[in-house]
Amino acid sequence: MSTELKFYEGLHGSGVVISLCCGKDRLIFDFGSPFTPLTQIEDGVLLPRKQAAVLDALTLGKLPEVEGLFSREALQEWPLLCAEKSPWNTAVLISHLHLDHMSGIRFVDPSIPVYLSEEAWRLEKALRAIGESETSREFQHFQLHQPFYVGKIRITAYFSDHPCAGSCGFLIETEDKTVFYSGDIRFHGLRREQAWKEIEALSKKKIDLLIVDAMTTAFLNDPQEILPSQEITEQQISEDQINKLISEKLAGSEHLAVFNLYHRDLQLIQSLIEIAKKQQRKLIFEPETAWIVQKMLHEPVAIWLQDYPRYQQHLPAWLQKLKKSAEIVPLSAICSHPQNAMVQCSYRSSFSLLDFQKIPTDYLHLYGEPMVEGTLSYQRLRSFLNRLNIQYIGASTLYCFNHAYPNHLAEMIRRLQPALVVPVHSSAPEKLQTDKAKLILPKQAKRYRLEENDLVELD
Ligand SMILES: [Zn+2]
Repeated sequence: MSTELKFYEGLHGSGVVISLCCGKDRLIFDFGSPFTPLTQIEDGVLLPRKQAAVLDALTLGKLPEVEGLFSREALQEWPLLCAEKSPWNTAVLISHLHLDHMSGIRFVDPSIPVYLSEEAWRLEKALRAIGESETSREFQHFQLHQPFYVGKIRITAYFSDHPCAGSCGFLIETEDKTVFYSGDIRFHGLRREQAWKEIEALSKKKIDLLIVDAMTTAFLNDPQEILPSQEITEQQISEDQINKLISEKLAGSEHLAVFNLYHRDLQLIQSLIEIAKKQQRKLIFEPETAWIVQKMLHEPVAIWLQDYPRYQQHLPAWLQKLKKSAEIVPLSAICSHPQNAMVQCSYRSSFSLLDFQKIPTDYLHLYGEPMVEGTLSYQRLRSFLNRLNIQYIGASTLYCFNHAYPNHLAEMIRRLQPALVVPVHSSAPEKLQTDKAKLILPKQAKRYRLEENDLVELD
């Protein structure tokens, strides 16, 4: 039985969707859509259609045309094999809960199992409670390093030091081949030692094909100059440096600190908790994030109820519970001692910043929405902050914070010694330095057979 692959999404940018099958057993790993904030029609104002959701997503390229995943009812007349007629024993694996890796899950027929790491599953449950998940479907979950099977395919998840809680990569062993899909990966986070240990453990396996997150190659001018190394160079920003920068901004400052983050990135929240303790500031969350912090980190939390009437009208169960267990900090306490506070303010709650007009305030933009310069919402935020005389501090770019630098990728490949490498999640995959491994740039949605030293196109 041979191992076959199809690359549906992620060959020229984010949003990875790949299928791997061996006989009748089939895995789809990651199921997101490309992150395209500058060109997409969805602006948060347009209402997505419910009845034609799958058709609209297929038409707009938000969903790849994967056979046997969507119900006949959802597909209507769309010419694609429906889940009911699928000849495969299929499972979907999700590496982490960033949207470019899982936004399509809500469209997958409920009969098809979807797998998440145990930690990601806990995050998903917390997101559901606060109304931030788009699905209520069941998930299967797994522990890192404990193999599980889809038919005869053996899967083992490995830790990946990505900021999103529960991130992992997958070692996939079929009857004849071994593939490692990295998920989103980096080696400059706080847990990089563990990340390198995982590579050490994986290097004992004979890997036929490595599918790797190569996002940062998009920023390379001269890829030939990249040498494999574990080193974090002076030009590269590490997670420690970002934390240091935040600490420096706070140290001795009389200003109120406002922060905006993406609350699926628990690693950053953990760091902020420690920084706030050291700087003797009270870290004050919005209720939604506080709920996640309680559930995932089991830390005591302080909250502020910015626009209280908004919450009072229909207090959901999670907020009722939170109000009993969290410290509620009144706005007056924040305003009277701004130097003692660090307050979360997400983009959608920006009107709350009007309360700080008379207080010197710094706004730490820590990869929360809006994430990309050039989008309208980003420009609106900047001009609003200007108008309020709030100082904007952006720590680094989203991309370099979340993804491994090219020299680290080259080092990872040098150690794993795969026969073949397919870069994904990059707009310049051809720039990846692959040491002795053969670089493969597959065509989208073509069927390939994985052979000893090649991916052979079948149709
Ligand atoms: Zn990603």
